[in-house]
Amino acid sequence: MDPATDLQPMPTEHLINELQSYGVRLVDPRAGAESRRGGAGPSDHKALTLDGMTVMVPVHTAPAFESPYLVEKPDAYGRSRISRDGLVLGEVSFPLQPKFYGLTTADGIPYSKIAVLHGRDVLATTVLQTCIRYQSRTKTCQFCAIGQSLAAGRTIERKTPAQLAEVAKAAVELDGVKHMVMTTGTPPGKDRGAAILTESARAVKAAVDLPIQVQCEPPDDDAWFARMHAAGADALGMHLEAVTEEVRHSIMPGKAQVSVERYFQAFEAAVPVFGRGQVSTYILAGLGDSREDILKVCDRLTRIGVYPFVVPFVPISGTPLESHPTPSPAFMNSILGPLAGMLLATGLKSIDAKAGCAKCGACSALSTYERRGRGQGGCS
Ligand code: SF4
Repeated sequence: MDPATDLQPMPTEHLINELQSYGVRLVDPRAGAESRRGGAGPSDHKALTLDGMTVMVPVHTAPAFESPYLVEKPDAYGRSRISRDGLVLGEVSFPLQPKFYGLTTADGIPYSKIAVLHGRDVLATTVLQTCIRYQSRTKTCQFCAIGQSLAAGRTIERKTPAQLAEVAKAAVELDGVKHMVMTTGTPPGKDRGAAILTESARAVKAAVDLPIQVQCEPPDDDAWFARMHAAGADALGMHLEAVTEEVRHSIMPGKAQVSVERYFQAFEAAVPVFGRGQVSTYILAGLGDSREDILKVCDRLTRIGVYPFVVPFVPISGTPLESHPTPSPAFMNSILGPLAGMLLATGLKSIDAKAGCAKCGACSALSTYERRGRGQGGCS
């Protein structure tokens, strides 16, 4: 066995499920690039490369502190041994701190407060770090930490188009980033963030040739899809997070005011604009939806050309769901195996995505299932 490339005895996709469910303990918490804490979407993670795949693995969560997986201090080449309950499984490595983190804008803002590196080669930014859904406990999405990184001073509230363009250009030139994810908190107003994403995408595209995925709630008017696309957005994410109205209303009462049916209308309108496989949605498994509920919605999504990026829910410290359990590796396997089969059957592939989470794939083992062609998997 070559320890650098083959992590035995478990198939890589199962190991990723385990690492994302249990997290890892790090002997040296400073290893690799700075970990994500707070912010929109998944957090409290660190990027780790194993078997050629870069994945986001929880390191700051409560389960991670008790994980059976331990990553040793990296050697001079950035390689570390990973073990489970003392048994060495192989080697992993950490993407290095990107060079653009060392720069600041002319007005003195560190580039790392404007955008950050996700996975191995994705530049990610939250254009607007506030959200109408985050104002009160009764409306907030209970898994979200968008206000935490702002309160801690790790980011700024509003990234201007000019700042985003400046940082994107540097990240391409200095660190070779391959695509960009622009998400946003939901502002007041009916466009639900589409307007600021449009002006941001336009500015970045004018500065550098970088594929961009924009992420927002379905806007009031489907004409926004053509506007975002014309401005330079190559891909679009509209994230259901949970798939049943019951779970949506209990976990994300504000965002659940936009119904699942409205999401599907928006998907149907967006796919002809962006193309099959260029529209995606993020689904957090483990919030209460059953395997059957998730697979039923994924079946509907894949039939209309939307890529369902199913990731394990990981609780973020300081959020109302910080003590909510992560889904088991078996639960993830029971969803990702059949989902990979649906993707194969409908011709949707993560490698064909031009930009975004589906292309990056670091928050889920899904793309590894896809690559292995394990479409018929599922063990429970
Ligand atoms: S899958 Fe999306 S959220 Fe996860 S690391 Fe990649 S770009 Fe970031």
